[in-house]
This record gives sequence, C-alpha cells and structure tokens, in this order.
Amino acid sequence: MRLIDSHAHLADDRFKDDLPEVLRRARDAGVEAVVVIGYNVESSAAVLKLTSADHPAGSPSLHAVVGFAPHNVAEATSSAVAEVEAMLDRPEVVAVGEIGLDYHYDMPPADQRTLFATQLEWAVQRELPVVIHSREAVDDMVRMLGEAGASEGRLRGVIHCFTEDPAMAEQVVDLGFYVSFSGIATFKNAPEVRDAIARVPLERTLIETDAPFLAPVPHRGQRNEPAFVAEVARCVAEIHERSADEVAEISAANCRRLFRI
Ligand SMILES: [Zn+2]
Repeated sequence: MRLIDSHAHLADDRFKDDLPEVLRRARDAGVEAVVVIGYNVESSAAVLKLTSADHPAGSPSLHAVVGFAPHNVAEATSSAVAEVEAMLDRPEVVAVGEIGLDYHYDMPPADQRTLFATQLEWAVQRELPVVIHSREAVDDMVRMLGEAGASEGRLRGVIHCFTEDPAMAEQVVDLGFYVSFSGIATFKNAPEVRDAIARVPLERTLIETDAPFLAPVPHRGQRNEPAFVAEVARCVAEIHERSADEVAEISAANCRRLFRI
C-alpha cells in the first residue's frame, strides 16, 4: 500500500521519545507522507520545527499545518493570533489548521466564530487550503465556509475526522471540500461515520489517524501513530467494495492535490 496520513499531531509530547521508530514503522506500512497539525502557538511552532528538521533516510515526508483550534480559543489573544499568522509564510506550511467550530464543549461560540472567520480569511488571501474541525456545528460551519468563498471556489479544504451528520458530508462535498475519515470508522459504535464514508465519493475522500488520539481497531486504546492509517484504508475499502490498495492510492492522490505536496 502507498498511503498518506492526512492528519497527525506528530509534534505531540507523546512522540518525543521514539519518533524515529514511529517514522520507521510508518514507512514500513507504506506511508509516504504525513501532514503534521498544530492547534495553537506552541504546537504550531513545534510542527514547524519538526517538519523542517532532518529525519532518517526513507522517512515519510512531513508537511506543516498551523493554526488556532476552537479548543484553544481562550489563548487566542491578538498577539498570539498574529504569531500564528506570521508562521504561514514558512515554506513548510501547506495549509491553515486545524481551525473550526466545536459546540460540544463549553467554549464561547461567538469567540470561536470570530477566530475561525479570521483564519478562513488568511487561507483565502494566501490561496492555502484549510483543515477543519467541526463538531455539533453543522449549520454554522456550512454557512461560514460558503460565505468565506467555498461557494465561489475561492476556499478549498478538508473536514477532518468526520463525525458530523452524514448529510453534512454531502453538503461540504457540494462546496468542493474533501472529507477525511479516521480510525473512528472502525469503532463498533460509529455506524453514522460508516454511513458518511459511503456517501462521499472516493475522489473526495482522505484518510488520517489524528495520532496520538483515536487508534483504530485492533489498536484501540493504544497511542495512535501514522502506520495505523492502513487500518482506516481497509475499513473505507470494505464500505466502497474496493481494494485497500486502491483506496490508499486514490486518497493519497487526493491529499497531494489538496495540499499541493
Ligand atoms: Zn487533530
């Protein structure tokens, strides 16, 4: 299989002791590239450090995504936001993210929307794609993506770790977006995610681990890592009645097209 993990937090502390082995296992599983994601100033700076460093020969290529996630809205002072914006000029950066709306947790929705709108504007100005987190926020998300330029093709991106209503997957595909599925698809208690997978054409599907979180079956409960994206490819393949190799190939091509890597 030739895979890309479209979303992993490889700069997380949980990888600091054994990253070379994690990258070796990823390579052995066929992972050619990993998109490494930040969510605030510190994590975004760590992503830039990791993606600009040298790694053992044969490691997957690493690509940076920097941004301010809704979970970190309380830290998003104007100077912190300006710091993240300045990082977008670095050559390693392939997208703005992860950004979005999360109405599941108790974080001020109006503040989340302001922070999100600012970052959507960065992406449109710089012609960068966006990596979106959306939880229990379907209506505002679809509206804001449309208003920011998705309806006119000025904004491209992916809804990552999709867990929203399956009908929303079709709405964002209509807006030209990709939809990325994680190891949640392999969980017994996630039939709606498998329904969403069936509704998204493979040509718009990405796969990811969201490592170190959400390890797929049969690794559930362990620290997740990019090598396990193969399990997501197998799960998506079963639903679409295609081979895992084909799903790996098509989703990797989608990922390269979206992030221009
Ligand atoms: Zn994430």
